[in-house]
Order: sequence, then structure tokens, then C-alpha cells
Amino acid sequence: MTDEINKTHTTAGGEPYPSDEHSLTVGNDGPIVMHDHFLMEQMAAFNREMIPDRQPHAKGGGAFGQFEVTEDVSKYTKASFLQKGATTPMVARFSTVAGESGSPDTWRDPRGFALKFYTEEGNFDMVGNNTPVFFVRDPMKFQHFIHSQKRRADNGLRDHDMQWDFWTQSPESAHQVTWLMGDRGVPATWRHMNGYSSHTYMWVNAEGERFWVKYHFKTDQGIKCLTQEQADQMAGNDADYHRRDLFEAIERGEYPTWTLQVQIMPYEDAKTYRINPFDLTKVWPHEDYPLHTVGRMKLDRNPTDFHTEIEQAAFEPNNMVPGTGVSPDKMLLARTISYADAHRARLGVNYKQIPVNEPRSPVNSYTKGGAMRMRNATDPVYAPNTKGGAHANPNAYPANNVWEADGAMVRAAYTLRKDDGDFNQANDLVNKVMNDEERERLVHNAAGHLSDGVGEDVLQRAFEYWRNVDANIGERIEKAVRENLKSA
Ligand code: NDP
Repeated sequence: MTDEINKTHTTAGGEPYPSDEHSLTVGNDGPIVMHDHFLMEQMAAFNREMIPDRQPHAKGGGAFGQFEVTEDVSKYTKASFLQKGATTPMVARFSTVAGESGSPDTWRDPRGFALKFYTEEGNFDMVGNNTPVFFVRDPMKFQHFIHSQKRRADNGLRDHDMQWDFWTQSPESAHQVTWLMGDRGVPATWRHMNGYSSHTYMWVNAEGERFWVKYHFKTDQGIKCLTQEQADQMAGNDADYHRRDLFEAIERGEYPTWTLQVQIMPYEDAKTYRINPFDLTKVWPHEDYPLHTVGRMKLDRNPTDFHTEIEQAAFEPNNMVPGTGVSPDKMLLARTISYADAHRARLGVNYKQIPVNEPRSPVNSYTKGGAMRMRNATDPVYAPNTKGGAHANPNAYPANNVWEADGAMVRAAYTLRKDDGDFNQANDLVNKVMNDEERERLVHNAAGHLSDGVGEDVLQRAFEYWRNVDANIGERIEKAVRENLKSA
């Protein structure tokens, strides 16, 4: 094919366009004829360009790269992509949570930190955040939580009153809210933040021994954050600041990297640990479970089609490989169902055949049919069969990436452990981790947020909530809110 033919503008069916400028009319000045299918295809495709936003995590960006294992962790997992020396191609997507697809990148919000590793044993996804904890610990509350952070039914506006109304009635949120109102609530860029699995996962080694793990992707660029004032200004100046920063850094050849470290808990420890190790609102203190380095992730390739490769990227924590598994964390268990369901609703039942979501390893599935199917189904289309079709491999997942459970079916909170208080780790964060300047910014940020449309009854509960985090911080926040409201 010559270059000239290659460059001819064609319909999606490959037919050359007769004109880029003129529709087909009856005479120069006459009406447009309906059978101008060139025009019709353009208009019809344009009208269908948008797909539904993610609910939540609509605004984001991402890039491709690879993950290289630098240390030997074979004692803890047999997963092939986690063996020393393995290099695995991957894609990452970073996002805000509450905002729509055009919303400012610098709103105070946790950031999504979603990773897909195209391993030789199937895709492994870590759908994490830039924070090690979360606002709620039971998935029954998740939908309500997100509603409270997004928009009201009547005026379509976001509303701090409903945010604090939800938070103050959900004391388990205190750790995450304290984190959010601190410096890390607005990262300077996606390159300058950590990513955490937050959830506890399982690893299984070649001998079948089980371990509980938490993943920490530590930025090699160093942590950098924006003040509230810098973030507000940037929201007006460049709503796409974080998306732009990542794309331009990779264009310049400044490839961001993160070091993966994991906390590892022996299987039996979980039964007696002083904190419920599966409660998503808690961290495992480093002094109890130190970090072990595993490897390094580098992002070095931008997408060529943002829509196809990033908007259609579908991350799901149920994408696991032999040597890994989930845990009794109720939020994680619900997410193993809800993410795939969200992708089916948004992208269609065959979303795993979109190239960015396709495993690089062989797929021998008996699923068939459905809209937009790309991969041919082949006979036999059922299992078991005697026709040479694929069959399950019980050795890939020996019965040991599971755990024991017993008891009557109940709707109840997790059994409380000795150090499971809702405010303990929020207090640690304020007093053990933050310095005076950071505490001052925490007071400033929380008071600013509370001074914006929060009613008196919710305010009273919010002051009590902060006093439960720390008496002094609570008093300072109340004083600052009263001053803000007086001068408003
Ligand atoms: P450590 O002193 O061992 O660790 C404190 C960690 O806090 C640091 O390693 C850093 O995480 C993180 N950190 C530092 N500044 C801030 C900030 N302004 N906002 C949020 N996080 C910050 O203490 P512990 O392990 O005993 O944890 C104490 C508290 O630290 C916890 O209650 C939790 O809020 C917070 N934290 C703990 C993490 C953990 O997994 N143990 C992870 C992150 C925060 P990093 O090194 O990951 O950058």
C-alpha cells in the first residue's frame, strides 16, 4: 500500500471519503440529502462518543510501564510475577474519588491508585488508594458514603453538611478523615504520592503456607503535597493539572518509579493480634509488622488513545493469580463482586476483550456470546467434555488460599479486639506522626471545610468527633470554625 492510500480518510468501513468539507446537497445551495452516509456516520459516531463515567473515581489518568522484582520473597508467595528477577508489563490509573470526569484534579479527596499487572499466570490487579485506610469497614455503608460525598438530589450541588453528617455518624471514618484533612489530602502530583492496597490480602508459598500481606507502593520521587490555598488556586488555573503532570513527565523521559514494600503477617497471628487485621479503617503499625522490599514499578509509556487505553481500563481486585488471595476483609470481599459488575454495566459484558484489559497469558474460557464480543468462541462450548476442551487445574489454587469460618449467619459488626477503638489510630496520626506545622494545617483544613455550609447540629457533632480524635485538636478546630463564621 502506498503512503498516499494509507493516508486517505475513510469511513470506519474503509471506504474513501469524497470530501472533508462538504456534505452532499441538491445543488450548491440546496438541502442535504439523507443518504450522505459519510456525514451520517460522523454525526452518529460523535453522538455516541461518551461512555458513562465511573461511579466513583471518574476523573483520572494513567500510563503504562513495568514492575521488576528485586528481592527474594519466595518464602511468602509462589506467584510467578513476584519471583526475584521477574519483569511484568503493567498499566496504572490514578484518580480522584468524588468528582466527575471534568472535575479539578486538586480537590481534597483520596486518590485512586489502580494497577494491572499482565502476568504470565493471568492478570493481577491492585485497586488501591493513596491512603492506607478507608472511611467505612462494611460494604453495606459504601454506597451511602459515596452519595454523601457527591451531589444532593435537589440542587445537584456538593454539600459539606451531608459529608459531615455521614462522617460524624460513622466514627470508624475518623482515621481516614484525619488523614484526608492532613497534608496528604491533596498530593502535589500523582508522581509524589504513595499507593497502598489498604486491604489485607493473602500470599501462599510453594509449600502451601499462608501469610497475610499489605502492599505499600512508596514513591521514589518523595512525598509532596499542596496546601489548601495552592490546591484551590490550581483548581481554577488548571483543572487537569495532575493528568497533565504525569503525561508531560513521561514525555520528557522523567519516568516515575515506586518501590513496592509489603507488610507480612504470619497466618496464625491474625487470630490473636490486638487489632483486627482485616479492618480497613486500621493500619498495621510498622513496629509490629515492618516493611519488606519486593521490587520497583516504573511508568514509561503514555497512552496513544486516552479513551481506549485509560477510560476503558477496567481494574478489579478479583483479578488474582496463584500464590495470592483475598482475606476476610468484608469491604474487599464485596469489591471482588462489585468492580466486575460495574465494568459490565459501563463497558459491556465482554470488557475483558478490550486490549487494555486482555490478559497476555492464554485465555481458555467457556463464556460465549454477548455484545461486542471480539474473541471467537470455539467448540466444545461446555465443560466437562471429552472433546479436548480446557479443564480446571485444582493444583493452581490448592484449597489453601482460603481460611476457616464458622458460626450462625448474622448482620453484625466485626468482633472487637483490645485496640480496635475508632479513634486510636487517628490519635496516633495526629500525635505520633504529625509535627506542629502539620497539626496547624490539619486544624486549618478541617475548620475551612466545616465553615462551608455545615448546619449547627452537624457542627456540634463534628466538634465532638474531633475532640474524640484529640481533645486539643477538637478545641482548636471549634475555635477556628467560630472565628471563620464570625468573619464570613
Ligand atoms: P510509623 O511512625 O512507623 O509510620 C508513620 C507513617 O505515617 C510514615 O511511615 C508515613 O507513611 C506516614 N505519614 C507521615 N506523615 C503523614 C501525614 N501527614 N499523613 C499521613 N501519613 C503520614 O507509625 P505507625 O506504623 O505506628 O503508624 C502511625 C500512624 O501513621 C497510623 O495511625 C497511620 O495513620 C499512619 N500511617 C501508618 C502506615 C502504616 O502502614 N503503618 C502507613 C501510612 C500512614 P509512609 O512511610 O507510608 O509514607
